[in-house]
This record gives sequence, structure tokens and C-alpha cells, in this order.
Amino acid sequence: MEVSPEDIRRELLALRKAGATVVFAALMFQFWGQWRVVAILGGMVPVNIFFNVVAIEWVGRRIGFAWAEGARMGVNALVIAGLGWLTHWSVLLWLYVPFSLMWAPGEGGWQSLRVVAYLAFVDALALLGGCDPILPLAFTVLGGVTFLVADKRTSLHQVTVQQVLLQREQLQKARERALAQEKLSSLGVMAAGVAHEINNPMSFVTSNISSLYKELRRHPELPEPLREYVEEVLPETLDGIRRVNAIVSDLRRFSRGDAEVPTEYDLNDEARAALRIAQGQLGHCKVEVELGEVGKMVGRPRQIAQVLVNLLVNAGQATKEGGVVRLSTRQEGEQVRMEVRDTGAGMPPEVLSRLFQPFFTTKPMGMGTGLGLAVVHGIVTAHGGRISVESQPGQGSCFTVFLPRVPPSDKAGPDAE
Ligand code: ADP
Repeated sequence: MEVSPEDIRRELLALRKAGATVVFAALMFQFWGQWRVVAILGGMVPVNIFFNVVAIEWVGRRIGFAWAEGARMGVNALVIAGLGWLTHWSVLLWLYVPFSLMWAPGEGGWQSLRVVAYLAFVDALALLGGCDPILPLAFTVLGGVTFLVADKRTSLHQVTVQQVLLQREQLQKARERALAQEKLSSLGVMAAGVAHEINNPMSFVTSNISSLYKELRRHPELPEPLREYVEEVLPETLDGIRRVNAIVSDLRRFSRGDAEVPTEYDLNDEARAALRIAQGQLGHCKVEVELGEVGKMVGRPRQIAQVLVNLLVNAGQATKEGGVVRLSTRQEGEQVRMEVRDTGAGMPPEVLSRLFQPFFTTKPMGMGTGLGLAVVHGIVTAHGGRISVESQPGQGSCFTVFLPRVPPSDKAGPDAE
């Protein structure tokens, strides 16, 4: 059966009523026969319940539970003082002191001071009223300990609740990541199929058009319409074919269909190669490079260079004249960390959430295919690594890739596949 916090709160209030009633009933039993005292004690039961249960809820909801708790303790101190005078500070009345302090914790930093003031007030009146000093001493110690234990338990519960909430939030995030991963892997399967289907016809289209172009260029005396084909139509067609082939090979990399064999490589060599390849997109910005001592790694170096090229090209395209693009590598524990940071346009959350989806692009037609980061994601996960992104609109972006020195599936060595 599921119990809600509201149910538990109601049960606690019922216990508070029952506990107070039992103490008062015990006192009435002690003074049975002294009807004036019994009548006052009987009359105090509803008054006490009203203050401790009903009024505190009502006042607490309006002015805050910390203030209401202060008022409750004040009223209780006065009630105890009155009943102490009436019952000559009976031991049974003293029971009420630790009992009332059981409910005091969890109301902010001033509560300890309120408890001290409450105990001091009751003790002073008891001593002035001629009570045996051992009673205030015993019940003050018991009351203080009751308060401290209850206070610690409340803090423990609060910390536990916070931890549970934090774990729940982390679980939710992990679930979202798993869903995104799942979506990307089914897209990967689809992309592999599409790439395969396009690849075969594209190979003979490429080879036939290239041969036709070469053949026609060998004849200088072509009739006018054919010359236009050789000078404009065929070069444009070949350019289009190159773009389609580039997209097909991106799709194959994204779907991990790249046939490159794992080998031992130097990550910093690949980083330098990537910088050279991406140079065309970085000329307008200041490029900072910090390549740490990372040693040899195992994997598919061309793919790793591709990851860095894609990240560097995006960084260059997002950064204005004079901005900074920074590439760094370093060893971090068992893993190697590569970072591409830029001071460019940054990204809003709606772009960040779709970043790795194939064909997601914010660039104009012809500028972006939306495959760059999908490819990056495919390669990094195939190497047993992970990628994270931090970005704020207008403040730049930082892509961090963590790679294991040897991908899990290649643990047997560079030629394991
Ligand atoms: P494409 O570059 O072809 O658009 P990508 O998958 O590489 O495809 O990138 C997807 C989108 O992510 C880009 O269109 C751009 O909006 C955003 N993006 C990627 N990298 C950056 C970056 N460094 N700064 C700002 N936006 C970026």
C-alpha cells in the first residue's frame, strides 16, 4: 500500500493529540477526588489540542511554521507554568516537557534558542514555585536530549530525501541519454542501408560520367551543344556526384560501416593532420593548440582525424573574424581527452538537444548536411568513448571527447578485427 507524506503528517498529528491526552488523563487520575483540579485538567485537554494541533497548522500556513512553532512553545510554557502551580509540579506534568519537545525540530536555525528559552522559563517558574530542583534538572536533560535526537533524525531524513531526489534526477537523465542513444543506433541501421543502396549505383554513375567527360575533352572540335556540356554541364555534374559520394561516405561512417582496420597510432599526429585539413575554415580565427603527452593509442586513426576535422570545421564556421579556436589533447586517468573549444556563436538548448541527429543543421543550404556531428558520435562510440558538449548562446562552445587508450572490442590488439 502506498502512503503519501500527507497521510504520515496526519498520523503524526493524531499521535500528538493522543500523547497529550494520555499525559493529561494520567494527571487527572493522580488528582482523582480533587474535583476542581480534575475539572481544570479536563478543560485543558481540548484547549491544549487546539493550540498544539489545530492552531499551529492554521497559523503555520499563514505566517510560516517557524513562527507558529515559536508561538506554540510560548503557549505551552505558560500552560505548564499554570498547571505546575495547580498540581504542585507533579512528575506526571514534567513528562509533558520532553513530550512537547519531540515535535520541535525542523523549524530553522533559531529553534535551538527557542528550546533553551522554553526550558529556562519552565525551570525558573518551577524553582520559584518551590518545586524539588531534581525534577527540573532531570526533565530538562531529558527534554534537551529528546530535542537533539529528534532534530538529528529530521536532518537525516532531509538529507536522505535530497539524495533520493538527486538520484531520481540522475536516473531520468540517464534514461533520456539511453533513449537518444537508442534513436541514434536505429538511425545508424537505416543510414547503413541507405548508404549501401546508394553506393552501388553511384559507383557506376561516377565512373561512367568521369569516362564520358575524359573522352569528350579529348576532342577539341566538338559541335556547340556538346562543348557546353564539356565546359559546364559535366563539371557541375561531377561536382554534384562528389557531394553525393561525400554524403554516402559520411552515412557509412555514422553507421560504423567504415572498413578501416584498428592500428596503433599517435593521436597528436592525427590532431596535426586534422588541423591541416580544416585550415581552410580556420584562417580567419586565432588557432591555439596544446597537445599533451598522450602516448600511443589503438583505433582507427583516419576516423579519429575525421572527428577532429568535423569539430574544427564547425568551430571555425561558428567563430567570427578574430575569435579563438582551441584544440587540446591530454591524458586523463586511463582515458585520453580531446577538446575543441571556440569563442563563437554558441548554441541554444533546442539546438543542443538535437545536435547529434543525422541531417540536423542550422546552416544554409549547401553549407551543411547535418551529418558532421552524427559521424563524430558514431566514431566516438564505436571507439568505446563518449562526447560531451557545453555551450551558451553568444559565449562559444566546447566539445570534449574521451577515448579509451584501447577500444573495448580491440583489447586483443591492433589486428583483433
Ligand atoms: P553541419 O555542420 O553540416 O550543420 P553538424 O552535425 O556538424 O552538421 O552540426 C549540426 C549543427 O550543430 C550545426 O548546423 C550547428 O548549428 C551546430 N553546431 C555544431 N558545432 C557548433 C559550434 N562549434 N558552434 C555552434 N554551433 C555548432
